[in-house]
Amino acid sequence: MDSAEYERKIASRFAAFDQDGNGYIDRQDFSGAAAALLSEFSTTARCEKGQALYSGAEAFWQGMAGIADVDGDQRVTRQEFITGAVKRLRDNPQRLAGIARPFLHAVIALADEDGGGMTPAAAERVLRVLGVEAPVAAQVASALDADGDGRISEEEVLAGFAAYYVTPEHP
Ligand code: CA
Ligand code: CA
Repeated sequence: MDSAEYERKIASRFAAFDQDGNGYIDRQDFSGAAAALLSEFSTTARCEKGQALYSGAEAFWQGMAGIADVDGDQRVTRQEFITGAVKRLRDNPQRLAGIARPFLHAVIALADEDGGGMTPAAAERVLRVLGVEAPVAAQVASALDADGDGRISEEEVLAGFAAYYVTPEHP
C-alpha cells in the first residue's frame, strides 16, 4: 500500500466515526448514530433495545477515548486517531472487538426484526444510516454474510469490522 492509499484509508475510517463531520470524534458521534439507528428501525430510546444501543454506544465511545484521546479533552482528533486508535488496534485487534462488541450486539438485536437474525437487507439499512453510500452498503452487507445462510451473525459482524479497521498498513 502506498502512502496516498494509506492516507485515503485512514481518512475514510476517521470519517466513518466522525458521524457529524465536524472534524473530530466525540460522544455526540456515537449517541447520534444510536439515535439515527433507532429512528430507522422505529424503536424508542426507552425500550430495552434502545437502552442497550445507547449504553453500547457510550461504551464504544469510552473505549475509543481510552485508546485515542491522548490529551483527554473528550475529543479524538484525526491525529489522535492515527497515532492512537489505528496503531494500537492494529497491534491488538482483540481490543477493538472488546470495545465494539456491546454496540454491535445491540445493533444486531435492533436490526433483527423477525427474531431470526439480522438479514443482509437489514445490515444494508444500518450501513446506510451510518453514512455508507448505497452501492457500497449493499456490497458490504452481502459480503458480511460469509457463510451465505441469509443471516448475519455477531461473529460475522465482528470479523468484518475487524477486517475493515485492522488491516495491514504501511510496510
Ligand atoms: Ca464529530
Ligand atoms: Ca483529544
